[in-house]
Amino acid sequence: MADQLALRSENFAEWYNQIVQKADLADYGAAKGTMIIKPYGYALWENIQAYLDKRFKLHGAKNAFFPTFIPLSYIQREKEHVEGFTPNLWLVTAGGGETLEEPYAVRPTSETTINMTVRNWIQSYRDLPLLLNLWNSCFRYELRTRLFLRTSEFLWQEGHTFHATWEEANQYALDIHNDAYLDFYAHAAAMPCIGGRKSEREKFPGADVTYTLEALMGDGRALQSCTSHNLGHNFAKSFDIRYLDRNNELQYVATASWGLSTRAIGGILMTHGDDKGLLMPPRIAPTQIVIVPIFGKSGDPAPVLDAAKQLARELSEYRVEIDARDDKTPGFKFNDWEMRGVPLRIEIGPKDIEKAQVVTARRDTGEKKFVPNAELAAHVKQTLDSIHDTLYARAKKFQDDHTFVVDTYAEFQERTAGEGGAGFLLAHWCGDDACEHAIQKETRATIRCIPFDQIKEKGKCIRCGNESDGRVVFAKAY
Ligand SMILES: [Zn+2]
Repeated sequence: MADQLALRSENFAEWYNQIVQKADLADYGAAKGTMIIKPYGYALWENIQAYLDKRFKLHGAKNAFFPTFIPLSYIQREKEHVEGFTPNLWLVTAGGGETLEEPYAVRPTSETTINMTVRNWIQSYRDLPLLLNLWNSCFRYELRTRLFLRTSEFLWQEGHTFHATWEEANQYALDIHNDAYLDFYAHAAAMPCIGGRKSEREKFPGADVTYTLEALMGDGRALQSCTSHNLGHNFAKSFDIRYLDRNNELQYVATASWGLSTRAIGGILMTHGDDKGLLMPPRIAPTQIVIVPIFGKSGDPAPVLDAAKQLARELSEYRVEIDARDDKTPGFKFNDWEMRGVPLRIEIGPKDIEKAQVVTARRDTGEKKFVPNAELAAHVKQTLDSIHDTLYARAKKFQDDHTFVVDTYAEFQERTAGEGGAGFLLAHWCGDDACEHAIQKETRATIRCIPFDQIKEKGKCIRCGNESDGRVVFAKAY
């Protein structure tokens, strides 16, 4: 198992492709570019969902469902939106053996269909804000696919909210960005991210402002980990969504949308891990603790198995698995669970039962400890928290070690040359779209964001030399 795995330290791309399948997370579906998410991968998604759903609800959002098929004319209603999505659109042109009068787009995102609907729900300021969230899948045609990172159908949540003013829509997009997404990545996924807004070129088609979290993967490439958009009045005007304000005057609503997808799983897998395999962040790990009973060469396995079951009951507040396979050696099991990235292993054998203790082993450091049964509950809690902290600190150190202040285009080109990632490059940019495009064509690096904590400093654009007020974050991205 583990010995056949490509080494993360040597061939990151191959390691990723292999580990997703070896760890039973996902596989390709029969239709081009589609993904089957297996139980171990889906459990991770369920834990992500549970964490986020609670936070969305704290901000007043309510879950709903909207149809997968969207009349094509809806999509065509917002000019920038249709331009942005047409290259990736799937269309249904026939049903029941008949050609449809109007083709249906297979949901690339739901802004258009929701806007067409809620224009009938909103009459006055009393109907605002209207805060909706959908858990569904969406469909984007992709030529080159990679499990969790880019597939023709993926799972996500899409929030769609309607507000009285531009400022309120903007604040809501920022609240979700900070209190749901940033919180999730820091406290559940153990992933440090850089927050900021997108350039005009990189923002969502139809948005006034797009906020993003950008994470650095183990190969130095960036991953856009979620986005929140202030759509301003653009969609409201295209779909004619107006309300009577307190002065009985008709106003356009302002809208926001925000999403996080199963790409987050790809991000988690590519942030943590080592040559042995995955390393699941403890708070969302599908299995937090695996108990491996050590039966010994002779003797009755029943008492050991009973003791393991008793342990699992005592730790029932965690997601615990007992590996009772009798055709596999303990050594094989250790490697297998390490490959799957289970944060904490507990071993128990006849000697441990006699001494009222267990052996614990951390996946992140490999540290083993004898722990008396009486101290186990406290030990487990403290160790899982400590593993979370270690993973976050490691990822932060990696990000810091791969963040470079770049002042010349020669150095910028040198750092972005070759196939691998380039880390985060902090460089001055003039703000011009054509200049940004040229940098992308010449180096394949894109502006990931204009960071919230951008330091105001006068400088010269990395490429054209024109004036700049601060550095932006460039990277080669997934
Ligand atoms: Zn420039």
